[in-house]
Amino acid sequence: CTESPHNDGVCGAELTSDPRLGVSGALQIVLSDEEQHRFSLDDEALERMLLQERVKDLHAVVLSVAGAFRKGKSFLLDFLLRYMYSQGSDAWLGGDDEPLTGFTWRGGCERETTGIQAWSHVFVVEKPDGSKVAVLLLDTQGVFDSQSTIRDCATLFALSTMISSVQVYNLSQNVQEDDLQHLQLFTEYGRLAMEEIYLKPFQSLMFLIRDWSYPYEHSFGLEGGNEFLEKRLQVKQNQHEELQNVRKHINSCFSKISCFLLPHPGLKVAINPHFDGRLQDIDGEFKRELVNLVPLLLAPENLVEKEISGSKVTCGDLLQYFRAYMKIYQG
Ligand code: GDP
Ligand code: MG
Repeated sequence: CTESPHNDGVCGAELTSDPRLGVSGALQIVLSDEEQHRFSLDDEALERMLLQERVKDLHAVVLSVAGAFRKGKSFLLDFLLRYMYSQGSDAWLGGDDEPLTGFTWRGGCERETTGIQAWSHVFVVEKPDGSKVAVLLLDTQGVFDSQSTIRDCATLFALSTMISSVQVYNLSQNVQEDDLQHLQLFTEYGRLAMEEIYLKPFQSLMFLIRDWSYPYEHSFGLEGGNEFLEKRLQVKQNQHEELQNVRKHINSCFSKISCFLLPHPGLKVAINPHFDGRLQDIDGEFKRELVNLVPLLLAPENLVEKEISGSKVTCGDLLQYFRAYMKIYQG
């Protein structure tokens, strides 16, 4: 691990210091045991984060980025961290030659573990109406590549979708039929776990398509993304019944669904092993869209508080829900 102002040289899984002391890092809060097909919660770590005096009674905003490995989730999360750490500054994107730090770029430290990581620092943000909220960032990852991992991942994604107010579903290049089926499966798991069935059990879902290469069909950004998604999720009369059901189901689960199309960040990002995240190596088009995307998710006026059964929950409540949901899946 290298030192940086954001992680203070602390590696995720090895973080032992109290985050209250100003030492932040990525904490593995949910870990999968791939052989046993079980999940475990690092209850102590989560409690340390959520029950800190400065956040425990504040309403929680939980943003999760979920998807398969090696698709740029951590890279995006590091920019989300930059934005959060430079609250209010127009220069949040950083300097041209500053290496990116946070969830990634920590050499040998990053292991590809299925599970949920949380940034150990909980941010306190004042919304335009003067209320203060606590913002948590989560990284949910796994692979849907065999029968058993599909089940595990569906469980994990259900859990993180239940816990978050905004779930960013990070996909590469396009929305494939598989991606929709996986989404249906994990929302189904989520529904089953919730005691009461609400019309819309989940909050906000954003499809984030990386390396979008058809800007002449649907332009980069939110507007193009929403047009694209509307087409993709459209239920058509002549469609196979299964395809229709997937679409109806997804539409019925979330109170809000959106889509953002991101361009390819350039070859240095994608294939250069020495790339350390500095802006000068990232394509201009990508940076332009990033500057639109990040505030959409995290600007104070856009923050969405987590609601369960129609009420906003505090960080303290969130801990209880987390424990309860974990129990269901540990069954
Ligand atoms: P994660 O496993 O999903 O967290 O992926 P990482 O953020 O660690 O990124 C995996 C690799 O993809 C790294 O080499 C990044 O430089 C690269 N990368 C990051 N963002 C993108 C993107 O939008 N498109 C492409 N093609 N590569 C990316
Ligand atoms: Mg990652």
